[in-house]
Amino acid sequence: MPPEAAPLLQAAGVDAGYGTMQVLWGVDLDVRAGETVLLLGANGAGKTTFLKSLVGLIEARRGSITLGGEDVTRMRSSDRMRLGMTYMSELAVFPDLSIEENIRVGAQALGHADSGARVEELYGVFPALRDKRRAPASSLSGGQRKMLGIAKALAAEPRLLVMDEPSAGLSPLFVKEVIRILSDLRGRGLALLIAEQNIGFLEVATRVFVLEGGRIRFSGTVAEMTDNEALRRAYFGLK
Ligand code: ATP
Repeated sequence: MPPEAAPLLQAAGVDAGYGTMQVLWGVDLDVRAGETVLLLGANGAGKTTFLKSLVGLIEARRGSITLGGEDVTRMRSSDRMRLGMTYMSELAVFPDLSIEENIRVGAQALGHADSGARVEELYGVFPALRDKRRAPASSLSGGQRKMLGIAKALAAEPRLLVMDEPSAGLSPLFVKEVIRILSDLRGRGLALLIAEQNIGFLEVATRVFVLEGGRIRFSGTVAEMTDNEALRRAYFGLK
């Protein structure tokens, strides 16, 4: 396979769970360089569990995960991060740290001695954060906090940003704002994997994977998903 055709991230046959409870069953998913992939699923479908197994916060019990062609299945989370995969959890930020400290924590993952230039660059992208740089993250509104979460994740200069429910806890207006920010990021060559239950994120996706009961029920383009009558009914409430 020529290098440009190889996926940036490839998960094959991933099983994972907690104690005696198996949550994921043979999950296959891939993300190509620069692509935006949506992992759609209801509460409890296993989205967070899958993302955690990708980034190394829990162990894949079976199957394999490669990043940039390198097998990372048994690799520590910090090493996966160094290879270019950054995770943004639902919480996204440390509430007690200031805005600038949060961004610096994100940049630390790079191991750069001086993160100052990267912080300045990110203030250029998110000017509202510069004005409040010394304030604790807990003082921000939900939408701003999510913006900070994105800035913190970007500080690590990822090739792939793995996001867990960026819409969680946000009003519809802020969800739109996050979708707008993500559309902008797409243009910068960053690959995104977004786990969501909000179908509004289909707007930014190139491909979709639907997770149900820990299994991939569908994978394809957004157009293919909307052409599928059963999925249309289940996710859009349409006949
Ligand atoms: P949500 O939108 O609610 O976060 P999700 O699709 O991300 O849903 P998961 O959080 O991966 O789903 O949860 C999948 C299943 O695993 C659920 O049944 C959940 O109760 C269970 N689960 C999640 N975390 C743990 C844990 N730490 N210990 C035991 N069971 C867990």
